[in-house]
Amino acid sequence: MSLPGLDDWLAPSRPLAPGVSVCVTTRAGAFSPAPWDGFNLGLNCGDEPGRVTRAREHVAEVLGIRPVWLAQVHGTDILDAAAARGDGSEQADGCISRRPGDAAVVLTADCVPVVLARQDGTAVGAFHAGWRGLQAGILERACALMAADGESLAAWVGPAICAHCYQVDAPVRDAFVGAQPSDAAFFHEDGPGHWRFDLPGLSRQRLIQAGVGQVSGGDWCTVCHNHRFYSHRQAQPTGRFATLIWLNTR
Ligand SMILES: [Zn+2]
Repeated sequence: MSLPGLDDWLAPSRPLAPGVSVCVTTRAGAFSPAPWDGFNLGLNCGDEPGRVTRAREHVAEVLGIRPVWLAQVHGTDILDAAAARGDGSEQADGCISRRPGDAAVVLTADCVPVVLARQDGTAVGAFHAGWRGLQAGILERACALMAADGESLAAWVGPAICAHCYQVDAPVRDAFVGAQPSDAAFFHEDGPGHWRFDLPGLSRQRLIQAGVGQVSGGDWCTVCHNHRFYSHRQAQPTGRFATLIWLNTR
């Protein structure tokens, strides 16, 4: 059994804002056995809870932060890190942190992890955008909460299933196009009743529409790069990787 180190994890090529750090964990490591191999951070995907808790502690130790773990439910609730227990028992799909060292974190395996930072360096947030959460408006809600005063935001889109790898049926497309016809541009017909859906692309579009000045990322696919990231579409059960953002302690 070996635990991963900082060199095994990823970060955006440029900081989102001064004093802001972002980290994405990967499957690297030989800590979790198959089918969660090798570094699973998700509870409720069949892995042994004690091992997952130890893996979560390892993330906190390596990064020197307090991650605020959530119980994600594909909804639009967003927690305030300072008021959160952070032990994974609170249901929410996003978290905003204004206190250095409190890290907002989401777990994914195909859904889109989005991190946001205020350009004045006073708040950061992490949000889980699967198709249900995206359709329900979690990213618009995140932007409204983080920039109510009009401060500019920067966003980064983490590893998620790409347009080539994500096939959906009519109910998913109808949910988007019925509410906003221009969303049809993100669905490409792929046989009768099937479409390829660009979930990361639509997430980026939602962020831009919500007024985010800088949107980057979206370069990694959980299926195309399945050796590096967990993918729920590729294997079930499987693990979850974490996308974290925090304000550095000064
Ligand atoms: Zn792909």
